[in-house]
Amino acid sequence: MQLVKKEYSQSKKLYETSQNYLVGGVNSPVRAYKSVGGDPLFIKKGKGSKIHDVDNNEYIDLVGSYGPLILGHANEVVVDAVKRASEKGFSFGATGEKELELAELICGAFSGMDKIRFVNSGTEATMSAIRLARAFTKKNKVIKFAGCYHGHEDNLLVAAGSGIVTLGLPGSEGVPEDVVKDTLVALYNNIESVESLIDQFSGEIGAIIIEPIAGNMGVVIPEDGFLKYLRKLATDNGIVLIVDEVMTGFRAHFGGTQELLGIEADITCLGKVIGGGFPVGAYGGKKEIMDMVAPLGAVYQAGTLSGNPIAMTAGLATLRELRRLDPYQQFKNQTDSLKNAFNSKAQASGIPIQVNSFGSMINVFFTDQNVVDFESAQTSNTEFFSKFFWNMTNEGVFLPPSQFEAWFLSAVHDDMDIEKIISAFELSLNNLN
Ligand SMILES: *Cc1c(COP(=O)(O)O)cnc(C)c1O
Repeated sequence: MQLVKKEYSQSKKLYETSQNYLVGGVNSPVRAYKSVGGDPLFIKKGKGSKIHDVDNNEYIDLVGSYGPLILGHANEVVVDAVKRASEKGFSFGATGEKELELAELICGAFSGMDKIRFVNSGTEATMSAIRLARAFTKKNKVIKFAGCYHGHEDNLLVAAGSGIVTLGLPGSEGVPEDVVKDTLVALYNNIESVESLIDQFSGEIGAIIIEPIAGNMGVVIPEDGFLKYLRKLATDNGIVLIVDEVMTGFRAHFGGTQELLGIEADITCLGKVIGGGFPVGAYGGKKEIMDMVAPLGAVYQAGTLSGNPIAMTAGLATLRELRRLDPYQQFKNQTDSLKNAFNSKAQASGIPIQVNSFGSMINVFFTDQNVVDFESAQTSNTEFFSKFFWNMTNEGVFLPPSQFEAWFLSAVHDDMDIEKIISAFELSLNNLN
């Protein structure tokens, strides 16, 4: 079967104008489609598992706004709650009941979380968590893992190096080397790389930050025992373990991934799902650590719109609805179906792929290697991915425009969506040349 190309002229027109005013036509770089080529789509609306672009093309959405939309688009319960909240005013610069309700709900879902502080993004959450960990341990060095992303703050914007990595180098211009001199880079799924950094910088390391399931180099699963041993190393060496669950939180069960993996963070970072599509982040942990944050402690952190009542309402409605719907078995069944189908179609076509999935996250790497870390993820054939991406787009499946971004299912993706994704996948794969 031949692919039929869709009409994208309205998107193209808007993109041309946008580039005069918005940097690169976007407000977040991946949206510009640089890694897949072609012009980005302009989206005008979404409902359930579908979105529509400005040319009136419909797509099954597997981007889910890069993670937050675990209930799909414009869930009616959430829409109603947000409408009602907005009629009462947008922001007060004072604490409201919704913040308390959301805090109780989230703290109740994480065993190691006595207290929480809401912020406006995942970046703010990890940035504040690092500051807090440094203050708590009185040590400045931080270990992060190659290929893990924790937002765009200076400290953690360290390029994932290859081989035996020691001191980090800035991954962005404008980040002074001095700012990242305390950032150490270890290798995901490689506990020896952590041990050797701890040996080398004995007594200087205040924090280890990790994505429990990596989702920002494509989906990469921790090997058995890796995180448990990391937890032990942190504890034995007086290091604060920051588990960045901005992407994974509430993704595979109602709460953190850390619980499923048998570990407990000292500080957990959240975002995405907990705001239900509104700008919300959070960090939380044990009372003795959290009480160091202002106004109780000397670690300053603040925000004009932190705990915004509309955003809190959206988060609360999303989490309550998520708890009621309990889609987690469905996620597993659906990602298993996709994985099996993708693998068998790929085998038939002779194109090597690796499929990694967790909870509602899945993605396909175009490589014959097991993808277990940043280096193996980099073996993917990104040219194949680019063609595959546009084939899928033409077939009505909206994917993130990068080999290294996770695809997200929502609670409202149904069996028909899954079937359509599979048939689009087959056609897209068979038209890569
Ligand atoms: C998305 C993400 C962030 C950054 O969150 P923003 O809201 O984009 O600032 C941090 N950590 C992880 C693991 C993420 O996936």
